[in-house]
Parts: sequence; structure tokens; C-alpha cells
Amino acid sequence: MTNSIPNLTLNNGIEMPQLGFGVFQVPNEQTTAAVAAALDAGYRSIDTAAIYGNEEGVGKALAESGIARDQLFITSKLWIADMGYEQTLEAFGASLERLGLDYLDLFLIHWPAPAKDLYVDSWKALEKLYSEGKVRAIGVSNFQPGHLEKLVEAADIVPAVNQVELHPALQNSEVIAANAKHGIATEAWSPLAQGALLSEESILAIAAMHKVTAAQVILRWHLQEGRIIIPKSVTPARIAANLDLFGFELSADQMSAIDALDRDGRTGPDPDAFNG
Ligand code: NDP
Repeated sequence: MTNSIPNLTLNNGIEMPQLGFGVFQVPNEQTTAAVAAALDAGYRSIDTAAIYGNEEGVGKALAESGIARDQLFITSKLWIADMGYEQTLEAFGASLERLGLDYLDLFLIHWPAPAKDLYVDSWKALEKLYSEGKVRAIGVSNFQPGHLEKLVEAADIVPAVNQVELHPALQNSEVIAANAKHGIATEAWSPLAQGALLSEESILAIAAMHKVTAAQVILRWHLQEGRIIIPKSVTPARIAANLDLFGFELSADQMSAIDALDRDGRTGPDPDAFNG
């Protein structure tokens, strides 16, 4: 099963699994079991963040799994309150310690928080961590095209990834175009819109044709669009099903039918206005 998850090559040449496991809103004490179930099912990429309060739970599952470190791809994120050059270096160290790791695969600035005007300073710290080999790739999250422009202008290293809210009801095409322009991989958070689109008629019709679930149709749509996805579930059957996406293929018409669901349906904060 593990081998069936394709890797994408990021702009610095490292490989990232196209499908990973998210742990937002999973309490620390439940996180070890959820991540263990995910690793058992075949996920190797795990997406956490300092603000989720569950890096320790993730780290425990990784340690207990016995899976070689180089088979894993671990992402964490810098919280807004920790932005700034020195604070970023400290926060990164604290995340590593909570995870029980000596390097990360990907570290992201969680939000641009434009009113704080600290994302460029924080990026300089990420560049230092990268140059020291403490993280294999660095990136951003929730960056709008304008934030990316400003960052890339000031940066020595172009972000490898921009992780943004992206699902059929919010297809974020301007952000995807800006990412592509800079060679940045697009990673979709809330790829299932937290379950909100699972009873959409057109998705259910496509699911019936392939004898799969609505969730599997949405996740397969993302994969065929070439995006990285990190669905979250604490339910073992769903954890496994969300990985079982490689036995069917959506037709061009089915892809278009899902494209047609785009309706500016943002569920999370507006990145231009959110400052923590
Ligand atoms: P998702 O779109 O992954 O949806 C998760 C919800 O869908 C849960 O309620 C889950 O229920 C349910 N679900 C999962 N699989 C299925 C299925 N097969 N059938 C039916 N329901 C299902 O939402 P998230 O917001 O968690 O996003 C995924 C990840 O993205 C996060 O965990 C986090 O890692 C990242 N993220 C990043 C953000 C950022 O700012 N960078 C913001 C938000 C998320 P249950 O668990 O009960 O099974």
C-alpha cells in the first residue's frame, strides 16, 4: 500500500508523498492512536503544527512505530505568536523536541499574519534552519499571491510548498497560479472541506458510478489535479479508505463536474485579515 502513494518532487529536489495525514483538532491524547492507525494503513507523511498541541502525540506514534526515520515525512508549522527571527529559531527547536526528532522534512510559516509584518523575518530564520540541515524543505501556508510576491522578492530560497485551504467549494485558482509561477507545490488543507461536501449530489453520482465514497471521489479529484493532500480522520476505517484512491480514475467530464462546484466557499479564516 505504501508504495502506491506517489511522491512529488519539490523545487529543491526532495520527494514528498502526495498524500499524507493531517491531525488538526485531534487532542494530544488521541493523536498517538490516530497516527499509529495512519502509519499502519500506509501513510508516511504526517502534518502537524505547534498550535495543534499534539506534536508530542505524533512523536510518540512515530517512535513506537519502529519505521525508519528516512521513510517518514514530517511537517510542522510556526505559529503566529512565534513569528520573528529569533522566536522562529526557538519555536522550531521546541517543535523538534516535542516531536522527539532531530530534523523535520518540512517546516511552514503557518499564516502570513500581514498586520504583524513578520513573515519575511521569520522566513530568514527558516532559511538558516534549512542551510543548517535541520529541515529538508521550507515553505509557507495560507499565503495569498501578494504575500508570496513580497516574500520571494526578499528571499534567498523560494518556498517549496504553499499549504492553503482548497476543496471543490474553494478552488483557490489565483493562489494555485501564483504558486505555479514561482515553482511552489500546492498542498490542500481541509481537502474534504471538513466533510461539508460529502452529500453534494454531483459527487455522490460520481461515487456511485465508481462504487467508491464521496470522500474518495474528492480526494481522487485533488490527486488528479496534481496536488498534495492531507486528509484528517480519527476513524480507522476512514483513515484506510482515504488512502484507497488508486483503483479508479475520474474521467475528464467527472473532473469538470467537480470543478463546477467552485463557489468561494471558504471555511477557515481569510489569510489577508487573520493575524492570530
Ligand atoms: P478534512 O477536510 O481533512 O476533513 C476532516 C473531517 O472529515 C473530519 O471531521 C473527519 O471525521 C471527516 N472525514 C475524514 N475522512 C472521511 C471519510 N472518508 N468519510 C467521511 N468523513 C470523513 O479537514 P481538516 O481541516 O482536518 O484538514 C486536513 C488537515 O489539513 C488538518 O488535519 C491539518 O493537518 C491541515 N490543516 C492546515 C491548516 C493550515 O492553516 N495550514 C488549517 C486546517 C487544516 P473523523 O475524524 O471523525 O473521522
